[in-house]
Amino acid sequence: MTTVINPATEAVVETVPETSAAEADAAIVRAERAFPAWREVAPADRARLLRRFADAVDADLAHLAELEVANSGHTIGNARWEAGNVRDVLHYYSAAPERLFGRQIPVPGGLNITFAEPLGVVAVIVPWNFPMPIAGWGFAPALAAGNTVVLKPAELTPLTALRLAELALAAGLPEGVFQVLPGRGSVVGQRFVDHPAVRKVVFTGSTEVGRMIMAGCAAQVKRVTLELGGKNANVIFADADLERAAATAPYGVFDNAGQDCCARSRILVQRTVLDRFLALLEPAVHGVRVGDPASEATEMGPLISASHRARVASYLDDTEIAFRGTAPDGPGFWFPPTVVLPRTPTDRVVTEEVFGPVVTVQPFDDEDDAVRLANDTPYGLSGSIWTNDVGRALRVSRGIEAGNLSVNSHSSVRYWTPFGGMKQSGLGRELGPDALNAFTETKNVFIDTSRGSH
Ligand code: NAP
Ligand code: MG
Repeated sequence: MTTVINPATEAVVETVPETSAAEADAAIVRAERAFPAWREVAPADRARLLRRFADAVDADLAHLAELEVANSGHTIGNARWEAGNVRDVLHYYSAAPERLFGRQIPVPGGLNITFAEPLGVVAVIVPWNFPMPIAGWGFAPALAAGNTVVLKPAELTPLTALRLAELALAAGLPEGVFQVLPGRGSVVGQRFVDHPAVRKVVFTGSTEVGRMIMAGCAAQVKRVTLELGGKNANVIFADADLERAAATAPYGVFDNAGQDCCARSRILVQRTVLDRFLALLEPAVHGVRVGDPASEATEMGPLISASHRARVASYLDDTEIAFRGTAPDGPGFWFPPTVVLPRTPTDRVVTEEVFGPVVTVQPFDDEDDAVRLANDTPYGLSGSIWTNDVGRALRVSRGIEAGNLSVNSHSSVRYWTPFGGMKQSGLGRELGPDALNAFTETKNVFIDTSRGSH
Protein backbone atom coordinates (compact mmCIF):
# COMPACT_ATOMS: atom_id res chain seq x y z
CA MET A 1 0.00 0.00 0.00
CA THR A 2 1.12 3.55 -0.75
CA THR A 3 0.05 6.25 1.69
CA VAL A 4 -0.91 9.41 -0.17
CA ILE A 5 0.03 12.55 1.79
CA ASN A 6 -1.36 16.06 1.32
CA PRO A 7 1.83 18.12 0.85
CA ALA A 8 0.20 21.31 2.18
CA THR A 9 -0.89 19.74 5.49
CA GLU A 10 1.06 16.45 5.80
CA ALA A 11 -2.31 14.75 6.50
CA VAL A 12 -3.02 11.29 5.06
CA VAL A 13 -5.39 11.59 2.08
CA GLU A 14 -5.84 7.88 1.45
CA THR A 15 -4.00 4.63 0.82
CA VAL A 16 -3.68 3.10 -2.62
CA PRO A 17 -2.76 -0.52 -3.40
CA GLU A 18 0.54 -1.18 -5.15
CA THR A 19 0.42 -3.24 -8.33
CA SER A 20 2.75 -6.27 -8.15
CA ALA A 21 4.89 -7.46 -11.05
CA ALA A 22 2.48 -10.39 -11.61
CA GLU A 23 -0.53 -8.04 -11.60
CA ALA A 24 1.27 -5.72 -14.03
CA ASP A 25 1.90 -8.67 -16.35
CA ALA A 26 -1.77 -9.67 -16.15
CA ALA A 27 -2.82 -6.11 -17.04
CA ILE A 28 -0.41 -6.04 -19.98
CA VAL A 29 -1.93 -9.31 -21.24
CA ARG A 30 -5.46 -7.83 -20.89
CA ALA A 31 -4.29 -4.81 -22.91
CA GLU A 32 -2.79 -7.13 -25.54
CA ARG A 33 -6.10 -9.05 -25.78
CA ALA A 34 -8.10 -5.81 -26.03
CA PHE A 35 -5.96 -4.49 -28.89
CA PRO A 36 -7.35 -6.38 -31.93
CA ALA A 37 -10.93 -5.28 -31.25
CA TRP A 38 -9.92 -1.70 -30.36
CA ARG A 39 -7.95 -1.20 -33.56
CA GLU A 40 -10.97 -2.46 -35.52
CA VAL A 41 -13.43 -0.01 -33.95
CA ALA A 42 -14.66 2.15 -36.83
CA PRO A 43 -12.88 5.52 -36.92
CA ALA A 44 -16.00 7.56 -36.19
CA ASP A 45 -16.90 5.28 -33.28
CA ARG A 46 -13.44 5.52 -31.76
CA ALA A 47 -13.65 9.30 -32.18
CA ARG A 48 -17.07 9.33 -30.48
CA LEU A 49 -15.74 7.30 -27.52
CA LEU A 50 -12.83 9.73 -27.05
CA ARG A 51 -15.24 12.69 -27.16
CA ARG A 52 -17.41 10.97 -24.54
CA PHE A 53 -14.28 10.43 -22.42
CA ALA A 54 -13.47 14.16 -22.82
CA ASP A 55 -17.03 15.08 -21.80
CA ALA A 56 -16.77 12.82 -18.74
CA VAL A 57 -13.54 14.59 -17.74
CA ASP A 58 -15.27 17.94 -18.22
CA ALA A 59 -18.23 16.88 -16.07
CA ASP A 60 -15.80 15.76 -13.34
CA LEU A 61 -13.46 18.76 -13.66
CA ALA A 62 -14.08 20.28 -10.23
CA HIS A 63 -13.63 16.90 -8.56
CA LEU A 64 -10.42 16.10 -10.47
CA ALA A 65 -9.05 19.54 -9.56
CA GLU A 66 -9.84 19.00 -5.86
CA LEU A 67 -8.11 15.63 -5.95
CA GLU A 68 -4.99 17.25 -7.42
CA VAL A 69 -4.99 20.02 -4.82
CA ALA A 70 -5.14 17.41 -2.05
CA ASN A 71 -2.69 14.94 -3.60
CA SER A 72 -0.12 17.27 -5.20
CA GLY A 73 -0.55 20.67 -3.52
CA HIS A 74 -1.21 22.33 -6.88
CA THR A 75 -3.03 25.63 -6.68
CA ILE A 76 -6.72 25.25 -7.42
CA GLY A 77 -6.39 27.48 -10.49
CA ASN A 78 -3.61 25.34 -11.92
CA ALA A 79 -5.40 22.10 -11.05
CA ARG A 80 -8.52 23.22 -12.94
CA TRP A 81 -6.35 24.13 -15.94
CA GLU A 82 -4.68 20.69 -15.75
CA ALA A 83 -7.99 18.79 -15.75
CA GLY A 84 -9.19 21.04 -18.58
CA ASN A 85 -6.02 20.19 -20.48
CA VAL A 86 -6.84 16.46 -20.32
CA ARG A 87 -10.31 17.24 -21.70
CA ASP A 88 -8.89 19.43 -24.48
CA VAL A 89 -6.18 16.94 -25.47
CA LEU A 90 -8.83 14.20 -25.69
CA HIS A 91 -11.03 16.43 -27.85
CA TYR A 92 -8.09 17.39 -30.07
CA TYR A 93 -7.04 13.77 -30.72
CA SER A 94 -10.64 12.60 -31.02
CA ALA A 95 -10.42 14.27 -34.44
CA ALA A 96 -7.56 11.96 -35.42
CA PRO A 97 -9.12 8.53 -36.11
CA GLU A 98 -10.93 9.64 -39.30
CA ARG A 99 -7.80 11.50 -40.45
CA LEU A 100 -5.23 8.77 -39.86
CA PHE A 101 -4.57 8.27 -43.53
CA GLY A 102 -1.57 6.94 -45.36
CA ARG A 103 -0.31 7.99 -48.80
CA GLN A 104 -0.52 6.73 -52.32
CA ILE A 105 2.87 7.07 -53.99
CA PRO A 106 3.24 6.76 -57.77
CA VAL A 107 5.14 3.65 -58.86
CA PRO A 108 5.32 1.82 -62.19
CA GLY A 109 3.39 -1.42 -62.65
CA GLY A 110 1.16 -1.10 -59.65
CA LEU A 111 -0.22 0.80 -56.73
CA ASN A 112 1.82 1.79 -53.69
CA ILE A 113 0.03 2.73 -50.49
CA THR A 114 1.09 3.34 -46.91
CA PHE A 115 -0.82 2.58 -43.71
CA ALA A 116 -0.38 4.18 -40.27
CA GLU A 117 -0.59 1.02 -38.17
CA PRO A 118 -1.08 1.17 -34.40
CA LEU A 119 1.76 -0.34 -32.37
CA GLY A 120 -0.21 -2.50 -29.93
CA VAL A 121 0.19 -2.00 -26.18
CA VAL A 122 1.64 1.40 -25.28
CA ALA A 123 2.94 1.98 -21.74
CA VAL A 124 2.96 5.47 -20.24
CA ILE A 125 5.10 6.29 -17.18
CA VAL A 126 4.15 9.57 -15.49
CA PRO A 127 6.08 11.71 -12.94
CA TRP A 128 4.52 13.43 -9.92
CA ASN A 129 4.89 17.03 -11.05
CA PHE A 130 1.99 17.23 -13.55
CA PRO A 131 0.03 14.01 -13.02
CA MET A 132 -2.95 14.86 -15.23
CA PRO A 133 -1.53 16.65 -18.29
CA ILE A 134 1.45 14.34 -18.76
CA ALA A 135 -0.84 11.29 -18.55
CA GLY A 136 -3.19 12.77 -21.16
CA TRP A 137 -0.40 13.72 -23.59
CA GLY A 138 0.48 10.02 -23.68
CA PHE A 139 -2.84 8.20 -23.54
CA ALA A 140 -5.00 10.47 -25.74
CA PRO A 141 -3.00 10.21 -29.00
CA ALA A 142 -2.06 6.58 -28.25
CA LEU A 143 -5.73 5.59 -27.93
CA ALA A 144 -6.76 7.70 -30.93
CA ALA A 145 -4.23 5.84 -33.09
CA GLY A 146 -5.77 2.50 -32.08
CA ASN A 147 -3.35 1.37 -29.38
CA THR A 148 -4.31 0.07 -25.96
CA VAL A 149 -2.67 1.75 -22.97
CA VAL A 150 -1.28 0.78 -19.59
CA LEU A 151 -0.30 3.76 -17.45
CA LYS A 152 1.74 4.01 -14.27
CA PRO A 153 1.31 7.22 -12.27
CA ALA A 154 4.07 8.30 -9.86
CA GLU A 155 3.81 6.61 -6.47
CA LEU A 156 3.33 10.01 -4.83
CA THR A 157 0.45 11.14 -7.07
CA PRO A 158 -1.84 8.31 -8.24
CA LEU A 159 -5.29 9.75 -7.43
CA THR A 160 -6.23 11.70 -10.56
CA ALA A 161 -4.94 8.98 -12.91
CA LEU A 162 -7.06 6.38 -11.09
CA ARG A 163 -10.08 8.67 -11.45
CA LEU A 164 -9.38 9.16 -15.18
CA ALA A 165 -9.42 5.37 -15.66
CA GLU A 166 -12.86 5.21 -14.00
CA LEU A 167 -14.11 8.02 -16.25
CA ALA A 168 -12.83 6.22 -19.36
CA LEU A 169 -14.78 3.09 -18.46
CA ALA A 170 -17.90 5.11 -17.62
CA ALA A 171 -17.60 6.85 -21.00
CA GLY A 172 -17.76 3.46 -22.72
CA LEU A 173 -14.13 2.61 -23.51
CA PRO A 174 -13.98 -1.20 -23.57
CA GLU A 175 -12.35 -3.08 -20.65
CA GLY A 176 -8.60 -3.42 -21.07
CA VAL A 177 -8.23 -0.49 -23.48
CA PHE A 178 -7.00 1.99 -20.85
CA GLN A 179 -5.70 0.68 -17.51
CA VAL A 180 -4.02 2.62 -14.70
CA LEU A 181 -1.60 0.62 -12.53
CA PRO A 182 -0.42 2.46 -9.42
CA GLY A 183 2.86 1.20 -8.01
CA ARG A 184 6.60 1.46 -8.06
CA GLY A 185 8.76 2.42 -10.98
CA SER A 186 11.17 -0.38 -10.14
CA VAL A 187 8.30 -2.92 -10.30
CA VAL A 188 5.51 -1.78 -12.65
CA GLY A 189 7.69 0.55 -14.75
CA GLN A 190 10.30 -2.16 -15.09
CA ARG A 191 7.65 -4.66 -16.36
CA PHE A 192 6.66 -2.08 -19.02
CA VAL A 193 10.29 -2.05 -20.18
CA ASP A 194 10.79 -5.83 -20.00
CA HIS A 195 7.43 -7.32 -21.07
CA PRO A 196 7.59 -8.16 -24.79
CA ALA A 197 3.88 -7.38 -25.36
CA VAL A 198 4.54 -3.71 -24.57
CA ARG A 199 5.58 -2.22 -27.90
CA LYS A 200 6.34 1.32 -26.80
CA VAL A 201 7.22 3.17 -23.58
CA VAL A 202 6.37 6.85 -23.20
CA PHE A 203 8.40 8.09 -20.26
CA THR A 204 8.39 11.49 -18.57
CA GLY A 205 10.69 12.01 -15.62
CA SER A 206 14.31 12.41 -14.69
CA THR A 207 17.11 12.11 -17.24
CA GLU A 208 18.73 9.49 -15.00
CA VAL A 209 15.74 7.11 -15.10
CA GLY A 210 15.06 7.98 -18.76
CA ARG A 211 18.52 6.76 -19.70
CA MET A 212 17.84 3.43 -17.93
CA ILE A 213 14.48 3.07 -19.69
CA MET A 214 16.09 3.69 -23.08
CA ALA A 215 18.84 1.15 -22.36
CA GLY A 216 16.28 -1.41 -21.16
CA CYS A 217 14.07 -0.89 -24.21
CA ALA A 218 17.07 -1.38 -26.51
CA ALA A 219 17.06 -5.10 -25.71
CA GLN A 220 13.79 -5.46 -27.69
CA VAL A 221 14.28 -2.44 -29.94
CA LYS A 222 11.19 -1.17 -28.15
CA ARG A 223 10.05 2.31 -29.19
CA VAL A 224 10.53 5.11 -26.66
CA THR A 225 9.50 8.71 -26.26
CA LEU A 226 11.41 10.47 -23.49
CA GLU A 227 10.49 13.78 -21.85
CA LEU A 228 13.25 14.49 -19.33
CA GLY A 229 14.73 17.32 -17.30
CA GLY A 230 15.50 20.93 -18.11
CA LYS A 231 17.68 23.81 -16.95
CA ASN A 232 16.08 26.51 -18.98
CA ALA A 233 17.33 30.04 -19.58
CA ASN A 234 15.29 33.23 -19.41
CA VAL A 235 17.42 35.59 -21.51
CA ILE A 236 16.73 39.29 -20.97
CA PHE A 237 18.32 41.84 -23.30
CA ALA A 238 18.83 45.50 -22.38
CA ASP A 239 16.37 46.59 -25.09
CA ALA A 240 13.50 44.53 -23.63
CA ASP A 241 10.50 45.80 -21.68
CA LEU A 242 12.35 45.33 -18.37
CA GLU A 243 9.28 46.02 -16.22
CA ARG A 244 7.34 43.21 -17.88
CA ALA A 245 10.35 40.89 -17.97
CA ALA A 246 10.88 41.37 -14.22
CA ALA A 247 7.19 41.17 -13.32
CA THR A 248 6.75 37.86 -15.16
CA ALA A 249 10.10 36.18 -14.39
CA PRO A 250 8.93 34.79 -11.01
CA TYR A 251 5.95 33.09 -12.65
CA GLY A 252 8.21 31.65 -15.35
CA VAL A 253 10.10 29.71 -12.69
CA PHE A 254 8.01 29.50 -9.48
CA ASP A 255 4.80 28.18 -11.02
CA ASN A 256 4.03 24.75 -9.53
CA ALA A 257 6.69 25.64 -6.92
CA GLY A 258 9.35 25.29 -9.62
CA GLN A 259 8.54 21.60 -10.05
CA ASP A 260 8.30 22.03 -13.78
CA CYS A 261 10.72 20.72 -16.40
CA CYS A 262 10.09 23.98 -18.31
CA ALA A 263 10.86 26.25 -15.33
CA ARG A 264 13.04 29.17 -16.43
CA SER A 265 15.49 28.55 -13.59
CA ARG A 266 18.46 30.47 -15.02
CA ILE A 267 17.83 34.17 -15.57
CA LEU A 268 20.51 35.64 -17.87
CA VAL A 269 20.49 39.46 -17.96
CA GLN A 270 22.51 41.81 -20.14
CA ARG A 271 25.13 43.33 -17.82
CA THR A 272 24.23 46.96 -18.53
CA VAL A 273 20.73 46.49 -17.01
CA LEU A 274 21.53 43.88 -14.33
CA ASP A 275 21.14 46.23 -11.35
CA ARG A 276 17.93 47.74 -12.65
CA PHE A 277 16.51 44.29 -13.40
CA LEU A 278 17.32 43.01 -9.89
CA ALA A 279 15.71 46.10 -8.36
CA LEU A 280 12.53 45.34 -10.34
CA LEU A 281 12.67 41.59 -9.65
CA GLU A 282 12.83 41.88 -5.87
CA PRO A 283 9.31 43.30 -5.32
CA ALA A 284 7.95 40.88 -7.94
CA VAL A 285 9.35 37.93 -5.96
CA HIS A 286 7.98 39.33 -2.69
CA GLY A 287 4.62 39.62 -4.43
CA VAL A 288 4.27 35.89 -5.20
CA ARG A 289 1.42 34.65 -3.00
CA VAL A 290 2.53 31.38 -1.39
CA GLY A 291 0.06 29.47 0.76
CA ASP A 292 -2.98 27.21 0.94
CA PRO A 293 -3.31 25.79 -2.58
CA ALA A 294 -7.08 25.45 -2.18
CA SER A 295 -7.44 29.22 -1.84
CA GLU A 296 -8.30 31.03 -5.08
CA ALA A 297 -5.76 33.81 -4.49
CA THR A 298 -2.76 31.50 -4.02
CA GLU A 299 -0.09 31.52 -6.72
CA MET A 300 2.32 28.92 -5.34
CA GLY A 301 1.79 25.88 -3.13
CA PRO A 302 4.17 23.53 -1.30
CA LEU A 303 6.77 21.10 -2.63
CA ILE A 304 5.65 17.52 -3.16
CA SER A 305 7.36 15.81 -0.19
CA ALA A 306 9.70 16.23 2.77
CA SER A 307 12.55 14.45 1.01
CA HIS A 308 12.15 16.61 -2.08
CA ARG A 309 12.21 19.74 0.09
CA ALA A 310 15.47 18.56 1.69
CA ARG A 311 16.95 18.00 -1.77
CA VAL A 312 15.91 21.48 -2.96
CA ALA A 313 17.33 23.05 0.23
CA SER A 314 20.68 21.32 -0.33
CA TYR A 315 21.27 23.54 -3.38
CA LEU A 316 21.48 26.59 -1.13
CA ASP A 317 24.30 25.21 1.04
CA ASP A 318 27.23 27.10 -0.53
CA THR A 319 25.54 29.93 -2.28
CA GLU A 320 24.54 33.52 -1.80
CA ILE A 321 20.82 34.23 -1.51
CA ALA A 322 20.05 37.64 -3.03
CA PHE A 323 16.47 37.78 -1.73
CA ARG A 324 13.51 35.51 -1.17
CA GLY A 325 9.77 35.62 -0.87
CA THR A 326 7.62 34.20 1.90
CA ALA A 327 6.15 30.79 2.76
CA PRO A 328 3.87 29.56 5.56
CA ASP A 329 5.28 27.98 8.76
CA GLY A 330 3.92 24.83 10.34
CA PRO A 331 2.96 21.60 8.62
CA GLY A 332 3.42 21.26 4.86
CA PHE A 333 6.49 21.05 2.65
CA TRP A 334 6.88 24.80 2.15
CA PHE A 335 9.78 26.56 0.51
CA PRO A 336 9.94 30.29 -0.23
CA PRO A 337 10.69 31.58 -3.74
CA THR A 338 14.45 32.14 -3.70
CA VAL A 339 16.79 34.19 -5.92
CA VAL A 340 20.47 33.23 -5.93
CA LEU A 341 23.53 35.05 -7.30
CA PRO A 342 25.86 32.17 -8.10
CA ARG A 343 29.58 32.51 -7.23
CA THR A 344 30.75 30.61 -10.31
CA PRO A 345 29.04 29.26 -13.44
CA THR A 346 29.85 25.75 -12.23
CA ASP A 347 27.93 25.97 -8.92
CA ARG A 348 25.51 23.01 -8.61
CA VAL A 349 22.61 25.45 -8.38
CA VAL A 350 23.48 26.65 -11.91
CA THR A 351 24.28 23.32 -13.55
CA GLU A 352 21.70 20.93 -12.03
CA GLU A 353 17.93 20.90 -12.24
CA VAL A 354 16.74 21.99 -8.78
CA PHE A 355 13.04 21.29 -9.45
CA GLY A 356 12.04 23.77 -6.75
CA PRO A 357 11.42 27.53 -6.37
CA VAL A 358 15.05 28.57 -6.79
CA VAL A 359 16.33 30.78 -9.60
CA THR A 360 19.84 31.99 -10.40
CA VAL A 361 20.65 35.35 -12.00
CA GLN A 362 23.80 35.73 -14.12
CA PRO A 363 25.00 38.59 -16.37
CA PHE A 364 25.99 38.33 -20.02
CA ASP A 365 27.75 40.81 -22.32
CA ASP A 366 26.28 40.46 -25.81
CA GLU A 367 24.13 38.25 -28.01
CA ASP A 368 26.82 35.61 -28.60
CA ASP A 369 27.59 35.45 -24.91
CA ALA A 370 23.89 35.01 -24.12
CA VAL A 371 23.51 32.09 -26.54
CA ARG A 372 26.73 30.50 -25.27
CA LEU A 373 25.55 30.69 -21.63
CA ALA A 374 22.03 29.49 -22.48
CA ASN A 375 23.52 26.45 -24.23
CA ASP A 376 26.05 25.71 -21.49
CA THR A 377 24.00 22.76 -20.18
CA PRO A 378 23.40 19.15 -21.21
CA TYR A 379 19.66 19.94 -21.26
CA GLY A 380 17.65 21.61 -24.01
CA LEU A 381 13.96 21.74 -23.20
CA SER A 382 12.61 25.30 -23.14
CA GLY A 383 13.53 28.93 -22.57
CA SER A 384 12.48 32.55 -22.99
CA ILE A 385 13.96 35.49 -24.86
CA TRP A 386 13.07 39.07 -23.96
CA THR A 387 13.90 41.69 -26.57
CA ASN A 388 12.09 44.23 -28.73
CA ASP A 389 14.43 43.60 -31.68
CA VAL A 390 12.70 41.13 -34.04
CA GLY A 391 15.90 40.12 -35.80
CA ARG A 392 17.61 39.40 -32.49
CA ALA A 393 14.59 37.43 -31.24
CA LEU A 394 14.84 35.18 -34.30
CA ARG A 395 18.65 34.86 -34.26
CA VAL A 396 18.68 33.90 -30.58
CA SER A 397 15.71 31.55 -31.03
CA ARG A 398 17.66 29.75 -33.76
CA GLY A 399 20.83 29.78 -31.64
CA ILE A 400 19.46 28.27 -28.43
CA GLU A 401 19.40 24.48 -28.55
CA ALA A 402 16.02 23.84 -26.94
CA GLY A 403 12.80 22.32 -28.19
CA ASN A 404 10.40 25.01 -26.93
CA LEU A 405 11.14 28.70 -26.82
CA SER A 406 8.98 31.75 -26.22
CA VAL A 407 9.71 35.37 -27.05
CA ASN A 408 8.46 38.04 -24.61
CA SER A 409 6.46 35.32 -22.89
CA HIS A 410 7.01 32.24 -20.72
CA SER A 411 4.45 29.97 -22.31
CA SER A 412 5.69 26.49 -23.16
CA VAL A 413 2.86 24.17 -23.81
CA ARG A 414 -0.12 24.39 -26.11
CA TYR A 415 -1.64 21.01 -26.86
CA TRP A 416 -1.87 21.75 -30.59
CA THR A 417 1.85 22.60 -30.96
CA PRO A 418 4.77 20.15 -30.64
CA PHE A 419 6.52 19.75 -27.30
CA GLY A 420 9.79 18.03 -26.38
CA GLY A 421 13.46 18.37 -25.69
CA MET A 422 16.77 18.55 -27.48
CA LYS A 423 20.02 17.10 -26.12
CA GLN A 424 19.50 15.25 -22.81
CA SER A 425 16.04 16.73 -22.30
CA GLY A 426 14.47 13.99 -24.30
CA LEU A 427 13.79 12.09 -27.46
CA GLY A 428 10.79 12.57 -29.73
CA ARG A 429 7.97 15.08 -29.54
CA GLU A 430 4.54 15.00 -27.95
CA LEU A 431 1.35 16.94 -28.70
CA GLY A 432 0.68 18.97 -31.84
CA PRO A 433 -0.47 17.79 -35.25
CA ASP A 434 2.21 15.08 -35.60
CA ALA A 435 1.82 13.21 -32.31
CA LEU A 436 0.07 10.28 -34.02
CA ASN A 437 3.36 9.52 -35.81
CA ALA A 438 4.83 8.57 -32.44
CA PHE A 439 2.03 6.03 -31.89
CA THR A 440 1.90 4.43 -35.32
CA GLU A 441 4.30 2.62 -37.60
CA THR A 442 4.34 3.22 -41.35
CA LYS A 443 3.60 0.13 -43.42
CA ASN A 444 4.24 0.24 -47.15
CA VAL A 445 2.27 -2.04 -49.49
CA PHE A 446 2.86 -2.49 -53.21
CA ILE A 447 0.14 -4.09 -55.36
CA ASP A 448 1.13 -5.33 -58.79
CA THR A 449 -1.52 -4.23 -61.31
CA SER A 450 0.14 -5.42 -64.50
CA ARG A 451 -1.87 -7.78 -66.77
CA GLY A 452 -1.29 -11.43 -66.11
CA SER A 453 0.62 -10.78 -62.94
CA HIS A 454 -1.08 -13.66 -61.10
P1 NAP B 1 11.58 9.97 -11.90
O1 NAP B 1 12.16 9.55 -10.62
O2 NAP B 1 12.39 9.77 -13.11
O3 NAP B 1 10.19 9.23 -12.00
C1 NAP B 1 9.31 9.36 -13.09
C2 NAP B 1 8.46 8.13 -13.19
O4 NAP B 1 9.29 6.99 -13.51
C3 NAP B 1 7.74 7.74 -11.91
O5 NAP B 1 6.49 7.20 -12.23
C4 NAP B 1 8.65 6.69 -11.32
O6 NAP B 1 8.03 5.81 -10.44
C5 NAP B 1 9.09 5.97 -12.57
N1 NAP B 1 10.32 5.19 -12.40
C6 NAP B 1 11.30 5.37 -11.48
N2 NAP B 1 12.26 4.44 -11.63
C7 NAP B 1 11.88 3.64 -12.67
C8 NAP B 1 12.45 2.50 -13.29
N3 NAP B 1 13.62 1.98 -12.90
N4 NAP B 1 11.79 1.92 -14.32
C9 NAP B 1 10.62 2.44 -14.74
N5 NAP B 1 10.03 3.51 -14.18
C10 NAP B 1 10.65 4.12 -13.15
O7 NAP B 1 11.21 11.51 -11.92
P2 NAP B 1 10.38 12.30 -10.86
O8 NAP B 1 11.25 12.52 -9.70
O9 NAP B 1 9.08 11.69 -10.62
O10 NAP B 1 10.06 13.63 -11.70
C11 NAP B 1 10.92 14.69 -11.76
C12 NAP B 1 11.69 14.71 -13.07
O11 NAP B 1 10.83 14.61 -14.20
C13 NAP B 1 12.47 15.97 -13.29
O12 NAP B 1 13.79 15.70 -13.65
C14 NAP B 1 11.73 16.67 -14.43
O13 NAP B 1 12.50 17.53 -15.21
C15 NAP B 1 11.22 15.56 -15.20
N6 NAP B 1 10.06 15.98 -16.00
C16 NAP B 1 10.19 16.16 -17.33
C17 NAP B 1 9.11 16.57 -18.10
C18 NAP B 1 9.21 16.77 -19.57
O14 NAP B 1 8.18 16.80 -20.22
N7 NAP B 1 10.37 16.87 -20.15
C19 NAP B 1 7.89 16.79 -17.49
C20 NAP B 1 7.79 16.61 -16.13
C21 NAP B 1 8.88 16.18 -15.40
P3 NAP B 1 8.05 6.09 -8.83
O15 NAP B 1 6.86 6.90 -8.58
O16 NAP B 1 7.99 4.74 -8.21
O17 NAP B 1 9.35 6.81 -8.53
MG1 MG C 1 12.16 9.54 -8.56
